[in-house]
Amino acid sequence: AKHLGGNTFQFFTDNLQACTLERLQLENQLRKAIDEGQLEVFYQPKLNLADDQLNAAEALVRWRHPQQGMVAPGEFIGLAEETGLIAPIGEFVLRQACRQACQWQRQGLAEIRVSVNISVHQLRQGNLTSLVRQVLEETGLAPQYLELELTESQLLDNVDSVIVTFRQLRELGVKLAIDDFGTGYSSLSYLKRFPVHYVKIDQTFIRDLSPGGEDAAITRAIIAMAHSLELKVVAEGVETQAQMDFLKSQNCDEIQGFLISRPVEAAAFAELLRAQRDH
Ligand code: C2E
Ligand code: CA
Ligand code: CA
Ligand code: CA
Repeated sequence: AKHLGGNTFQFFTDNLQACTLERLQLENQLRKAIDEGQLEVFYQPKLNLADDQLNAAEALVRWRHPQQGMVAPGEFIGLAEETGLIAPIGEFVLRQACRQACQWQRQGLAEIRVSVNISVHQLRQGNLTSLVRQVLEETGLAPQYLELELTESQLLDNVDSVIVTFRQLRELGVKLAIDDFGTGYSSLSYLKRFPVHYVKIDQTFIRDLSPGGEDAAITRAIIAMAHSLELKVVAEGVETQAQMDFLKSQNCDEIQGFLISRPVEAAAFAELLRAQRDH
């Protein structure tokens, strides 16, 4: 970049420093947020298409920032992964979600399965299985009601050790899901190798789902393939009735998306379950 003037370089350095400072501030704030209980778990229902019942919930972390209000995970999960803060955050969400699902069951609201997003960083730490075992014991949630979601792209980093951990978790009785399925390169052949129970079709395929279109063909193929391997299929990002109708026609097992509900606070989720029970 010889043709660029000296000022250009100066600009980049300043910009980089501003960025680093901003990240440091964010990291410190996030550390504080964990310690001071500013993190919360929201829940988004999954609808079972076979019986039209809400039978599961995905736990999604939120940061109730004292000045900025509710902050979405897209703003801080990346940094949390880079700094290792994802470990305490992930543990918090896991414990909270298990406790909550157990409470809803005890209240007789529904036999709800709760799914928790696991980052590859947590998987690499090596003690995920013992943490999960400990949290299940501590909260009293039966293992078949806990599902762990791992994104397809993260699984491909470390195939062999991931498979070992998956086998241990499966043995515990926990359910496993591949998240954002279809966005990685693996897809078909890897599905056979990972001992999972659920495949979540990525939102990008659901968004432009029009019968006869490419995404419909991909969605149909994923569902057929998953079913032939005896895996259940969840479609996420379902926003319209037309999308739901198509997925139903293809025997998709569960759907999740704004059409059913946005992610909501625990109390609001309990209301959804109560309305369903008393319907
Ligand atoms: P994800 O696991 O793919 O979660 C689904 C995201 O899609 C959620 O965004 C959800 O609010 C959003 N969504 C659900 N239905 C619809 C819909 O119909 N339309 C649209 N446009 N969006 C929909 P959210 O809550 O902002 O989370 C973003 C991502 O942050 C998650 O993507 C996940 O990768 C990560 N994340 C959230 N909570 C945790 C956590 O506790 N641990 C880890 N490691 N990652 C988390
Ligand atoms: Ca997920
Ligand atoms: Ca996803
Ligand atoms: Ca995603």
